[in-house]
Amino acid sequence: MINDTIAAIITAYGKASVGIIRISGSDALEIGNKIYKGHKDLKRAENHTINYGKVYDNYTDKIIDEALFLVMLAPKSFTGEDVIEIQCHGGVVVVKKILELVLRNGARMADAGEFSKRAFLNGKLDLAQAEAIIEIIEAKTDKSLSLAVNQLEGNLSALIKKVRVDLLSLMAFIEADIDFPEEDIERLTIEQQLELLLGIEHEITNILKTAKGGKIIREGLNIVIIGKPNVGKSSLLNALVKENRAIVTDIPGTTRDIIEEYINLGGIPIKVIDTAGIRETEDIVEKLGVDKAKDLINRADLVLFVIDSERKISEEDKDIISLLQDKETIMLVNKVDLGVKDEFLKELKDLSQKPIIQISAKENIGLEDLEKNIIDLFFDGDIESNDQVLVSSTRHIDALERADDHLKGAINSIEAQLPGDFITIDVQGAFESLGKVTGETIEEDILDQIFSQFCIGK
Ligand code: GDP
Ligand code: ZN
Repeated sequence: MINDTIAAIITAYGKASVGIIRISGSDALEIGNKIYKGHKDLKRAENHTINYGKVYDNYTDKIIDEALFLVMLAPKSFTGEDVIEIQCHGGVVVVKKILELVLRNGARMADAGEFSKRAFLNGKLDLAQAEAIIEIIEAKTDKSLSLAVNQLEGNLSALIKKVRVDLLSLMAFIEADIDFPEEDIERLTIEQQLELLLGIEHEITNILKTAKGGKIIREGLNIVIIGKPNVGKSSLLNALVKENRAIVTDIPGTTRDIIEEYINLGGIPIKVIDTAGIRETEDIVEKLGVDKAKDLINRADLVLFVIDSERKISEEDKDIISLLQDKETIMLVNKVDLGVKDEFLKELKDLSQKPIIQISAKENIGLEDLEKNIIDLFFDGDIESNDQVLVSSTRHIDALERADDHLKGAINSIEAQLPGDFITIDVQGAFESLGKVTGETIEEDILDQIFSQFCIGK
C-alpha cells in the first residue's frame, strides 16, 4: 500500500547537535500538526517553510523538545508525497521519543530504502539515480564520489533514455513496413535501419568499455603482495601507504596471517594485502598452504610479486612465478639501491612475460613508476574524465550486455535479410533490457531487492 504514511529517523544514530525525523505520506501533515505547538497551525503553513515550535506529546500532555518543522508538500518533496521533517536536538533519547510519538499518531516505521523507493515510484528519480544515493553514501574516494554524483545527476539515464527513444521509433518503422507494405508512408530503408542499429550498438559497447574501470573506482582494487621472506614486502606496503593516504580507516586491519591496508591511488580505492604475517623463516606457500596461497591470488585483481635483486632466483621464486602465469601481475625487483645485475634481470625476463619494475621500497625508488603502471593496467592511463558516463554496477552491466546481444542479433538479422519480425524481436529485447537500468521495465521483486540494500531512513 503506497498511501500509508511512513516515518524514520534519517540522521545517524548517536549524540549529535541535530537529529531529524522524516514523515512521508498523505497523513504527514495531520500527524505533524498533532504534535506541533507553535504560533499557528502547521496546516496553515506555506509550502517549503521552516516552522519553529515545540514537540508536544498529545498523549501525556508534555513538551518533549523544541524543534523546527519543515513542511514540504507533494509533489515538491524528496518522495513526491507530503513530507514533514522535524529537526530536534540530536540526543538518542529525544530522537527516539519523537519517532515513537509520530508512530503512535498513525505513521508506520519506514522500511530500509522506502523513502527512496517512493521517490522512484512517484517519478522523482529513476532507478539508476536512486541507486546512486547508496553509492554516494558508500563512496571510498573523491573519484568514487564523483562517479556516483554523475549517476545521480542522471547522465547514464539520459543516455539510456535517448537510445530507447531511437529503438522505439525504429520498431515503429519496422511495424509499419510489416502492417502497411503498400501504403505511401515515411519509411526507413534497410540501410538506414542498419546504420541506426550500428550507431546504437557502438554507443552501448563504448559504455560497456568503462565497466572495468567503473567497477574498480566504485568497489576498489584488490592487490596482493607476494614474495619470499625478507624481500621487502612490508617495506613496500608501508611506502605505498605513506604516499597514498587512504580515506577509509574504519576497516579492521590485521588478521593472523595477512595484513590489509587501504590506499588511495589517484582516486582509485585500493586494498593492499601483505603476507607479512608470515615469519621471515617461513615460506608463503608452505605456511598458507598451496590452496590458500592460490585463493589469495585468485581473489586479487593484481599481484605484486616482489623479488630481492641481491639474491639468486630460487626454486621457490620459480614456483610462485608459475602460479602467477594467468594472473594480472607486476614483478618488482626490490633493493635496487644496492645495485642489480643484468644477468638477474635477463633470467627473470626469460621466466615470465610480466612487466618488470625496479624499485627500492626503502629509498623510494621506482614507486611512481609502479603507481603509473597500476593505473595504466586498469584504465588505459586515463581516469581523469570526470563527466564521462561510466558504468560500475553489476546490475547495469548485465542489462547493457544483454541489450548489446540483442542489438547484435538485430544487426545480424538485417544483414541476413530476414523478415522484419525477426528484427523486431531483438530490437524489443534491447529496448527492454535497457529499461532495466533506469527501472522502466523491472519486476517488483527485483525492485524490492534493490531498495532493501539501502539503510533505514534513506
Ligand atoms: P618482507 O619479509 O618481504 O616483508 O621484507 P621486509 O619489508 O620486512 O624487509 C626485509 C629487510 O629488507 C628489512 O631489513 C628491510 O629494511 C630491507 N629492505 C626492504 N626494502 C629494501 C630496499 O629497497 N633496499 C634495501 N637496501 N633494503 C630493503
Ligand atoms: Zn615482513
